[in-house]
Amino acid sequence: MNPKSRQMNVGDPSSVAELRDLVVGLRRHLEEEKGLGLEGWSRRSSVPRRKPSPQPSASLLSPVTLEAVREELGDCRRCKLHSTRTQIVFGSGNPRAKLVFVGEGPGRDEDLQGQPFVGLAGQLLTKIIQAIQLSREEVYIANIIKCRPPENRNPEPDEINACEPFLIKQLEVIRPKMICALGTFAAQTLLRTEQKISILRGRFHQYQGILLMPTYHPAFLLRNPNHKRDVWEDMKKIKKEYEQL
Ligand code: URA
Repeated sequence: MNPKSRQMNVGDPSSVAELRDLVVGLRRHLEEEKGLGLEGWSRRSSVPRRKPSPQPSASLLSPVTLEAVREELGDCRRCKLHSTRTQIVFGSGNPRAKLVFVGEGPGRDEDLQGQPFVGLAGQLLTKIIQAIQLSREEVYIANIIKCRPPENRNPEPDEINACEPFLIKQLEVIRPKMICALGTFAAQTLLRTEQKISILRGRFHQYQGILLMPTYHPAFLLRNPNHKRDVWEDMKKIKKEYEQL
């Protein structure tokens, strides 16, 4: 019988001796390697292990600063909204924010001032942020699209397709731990779902490894103040998570 194919029988003295020889040989080999400073041979011989990449995926191609993203956006004419906007509303706040608020798109005040959420809905958002003991300067505020749609109509698919990559780049730079999606539009766009905001809100979802809490849009709250309590419940959940970061 070919000695290599011979089965070892437990209890067979020759098998026990072979096993002992194997262990002794292996131990000696390890000690030799250790003496040469070659510890960890088994890992050395396999594919190097990598830490899982941080989320959202910070690849070599990711921009490093928000200024770089803004520069790449330039005097954007990638969609038809450029012809009716006054100016681009890029986003504002802390480039290292742990919490990012994402709205739908600029309204009239934002289009005129070049800052997100500065109209009536924006004033309510500021109060909501302050209610969880944070400030606008500590968080980051952005929108799905960066130019005001005429008459504040809903953004159209080609406009979202052109603009969303820049929001994604902003998130890649900021790498927040949490996102609060304000309203149906932001929540459905980010989560790639058609579910209603009333179903989505109130619990955390995952967006590229980031916790995402959908809640009602402040403009909706201005028309439906009875839903402020729901938003408060959602914000308390955000606050609780935020404190554990
Ligand atoms: N509504 C939004 O969704 N975004 C703004 O910036 C202002 C109002």
